[in-house]
Amino acid sequence: MKYLLDTPLAKVRGIGPKWLQALQAAQVETVGDLLVNVPNRYQDRSAQMDLASVAKVADGAEVTVLARVDRVGGERWGRRTRQQAVLSDGSDKLTARWFNSPFVLKSLRQRQQYYFSGKYSRRFRSLTQPVFEPVRETQLHTLRLVPEYGSGLELSSGQRRRVLHQIFTNLEDEKTPLDLLLKKQTDDVVPQLAEALKQIHFPDEDEKVVAARRRLALEELLSLIRFAKTQKKSWQSGRRAAQLPPFDLQQYATPFQLTPDQKSALTEIATDLTQNVPMNRLLMGDVGAGKTVVAGLAGWHCINNQQNVALVAPTKILAEQHTQTLTQYWPKLPVKLLTSRSKPKIEPNQPHFWVGTHALINQFSIIQPSLVIYDEQHRFGVSHRSQLIQNQLAAHVLTMTATPIPRSLMLTIFAHLSLSQIRTLPPGRIPTKSLLLTEKQRAQAFLRIEKYLEDHPKGLAVVVCPFIQPSKLPQLSNIKDATSTAALLAKQHPKLRLGLLHGKLPAAKQSEIIKQAAAGEIDILVTTTVVEVGLDLPNADILVIEAAERFGLASLHQLRGRVGRRGQQGFCLLFQSSGAAASSRLEKFCQISDGEKLAELDLNNRGAGDLFGIRQHGFDSIRFFGWQDLDLIAQAQKIDKQLPASWQTSIPSLLPNQQLVGRVAAN
Ligand code: ADP
Ligand code: MG
Repeated sequence: MKYLLDTPLAKVRGIGPKWLQALQAAQVETVGDLLVNVPNRYQDRSAQMDLASVAKVADGAEVTVLARVDRVGGERWGRRTRQQAVLSDGSDKLTARWFNSPFVLKSLRQRQQYYFSGKYSRRFRSLTQPVFEPVRETQLHTLRLVPEYGSGLELSSGQRRRVLHQIFTNLEDEKTPLDLLLKKQTDDVVPQLAEALKQIHFPDEDEKVVAARRRLALEELLSLIRFAKTQKKSWQSGRRAAQLPPFDLQQYATPFQLTPDQKSALTEIATDLTQNVPMNRLLMGDVGAGKTVVAGLAGWHCINNQQNVALVAPTKILAEQHTQTLTQYWPKLPVKLLTSRSKPKIEPNQPHFWVGTHALINQFSIIQPSLVIYDEQHRFGVSHRSQLIQNQLAAHVLTMTATPIPRSLMLTIFAHLSLSQIRTLPPGRIPTKSLLLTEKQRAQAFLRIEKYLEDHPKGLAVVVCPFIQPSKLPQLSNIKDATSTAALLAKQHPKLRLGLLHGKLPAAKQSEIIKQAAAGEIDILVTTTVVEVGLDLPNADILVIEAAERFGLASLHQLRGRVGRRGQQGFCLLFQSSGAAASSRLEKFCQISDGEKLAELDLNNRGAGDLFGIRQHGFDSIRFFGWQDLDLIAQAQKIDKQLPASWQTSIPSLLPNQQLVGRVAAN
């Protein structure tokens, strides 16, 4: 039987019921779905040598040989067994050794030829635990760039290679409409989709992998562009949203003079709210840019017009903090914190500004918010699935994020979102001074921190550690944890008032500590990354980050955004774990204070497919393109216009998770 990309895996030979179940559980349903799960690396076993040459290679080198099995046998000692084969190829002899692999005795036949790939051991003049396979038309496990797969999908790499090879042997060589278009435009340099898939699993050579990846990235980008378009259309043609009267800033008290960027963001949002087409807008602004006041004013406008508002925060602490901030900004604003246990009590004629964590989403059908605000949306894990909301009216949606998204992506795969940006920070902010310190400088640095805190009784130093407790894994034992660090600092600085804050503490305890820290009753707050997610501690002056090498630049930048918020000079001191290599990445971090530049740097440091920001926006299925692939994005945009309106990718699993993107849209 010939396979097509949409052939269900149940019809594929060699996939038994158990695998099928595992695959279906991972939403891998068709041949195409399976094929886009690509290898995570390749083992280069392409070079073959004769046995005489093996003696000359370095100890431990990977070699591939073609040899005859002269003798094969096994021995046992205690509970363990060893299998051995004597190989020859006319040039020399060599032993192959396996441990506890009785199948070897059954599979290897004397006087037959096989390819063997394994590590050469000089000491025993043998190959250790080599992979082998008989001579075939195409070798799958040796004599090539051999694909290695992660442990997902319940298949070993070997099993997977066999099934995939069988699929490729029988895969119909169909040209998709996109293939035909690309063929015309690029004179065949771009591989066909089916060929690209084959090359990414069983590459003829390195370069073919690169070309294949680009072809798949193009397929992916185009599906995403189309997806964004459909989203936008259905969003706009779907249910109607509440229509609000125009907004007049003059009528609202503000806690401070808004910056021009804040004002224009507010105008853009308010204009959307006057439409009955539901808003779907992203409010982008670096850490500390002042997004909260903008969202708050938009919410207040809704409340004044008898509409409920819901603000969804990524953590409980942050939800509490928002409640306090909003009340502080506008004491009369009817803010209500919704904890996971409480049920919202709706009062007729009294709309509220509901604040909560993702549990709040479950209450939307009761609250019926006209405006939903998601804060620091990039912190929502992918597991937070949305609830379908059965509102009479659709909600206007505002998503606040500190993750910069490049313009090219905004125009393509985020085309369904409108964008407001706060580029300049509120006035009077002094950039935080960042320093990368060595272990030798530690004692001195902490003495200076102590001195500073004595001189500034209301000041606060925050020490961030990656772990709550020491790790049980020996390879991570050098990474600092909050609990022992707090104990050590308490001993070293008896004069300072110490606080320990982490996510494992009871919620009430957490908020108590935060209150104390904000009130200046704590000098040093030792904590984990719970502080990262937008916690506002205006009196924090000094931030110490332990094991800084473990954090992405974006996270470090988020953390750094916690200090100096009152306009005081803030300091950010980075320490690395013992044994960590000198880091130019961290040095650059100390020199650059612009979040957007850091995000770019972060991307250049990571490979394609490992983009942040996008995945967190619900596009967790992105596999092939990186946002440094600017030319590819441009090409995709052009091709999008040439493809018929009815075009769809033949691999639907390239599309983003509908449910998640739907959540961003709260539809
Ligand atoms: P983020 O965009 O990271 O959510 P916040 O809304 O928490 O930032 O604001 C950061 C800090 O800046 C807060 O302490 C806030 O009160 C202050 N702030 C915001 N806008 C202004 C402004 N226009 N003038 C002065 N301070 C401001
Ligand atoms: Mg914030």
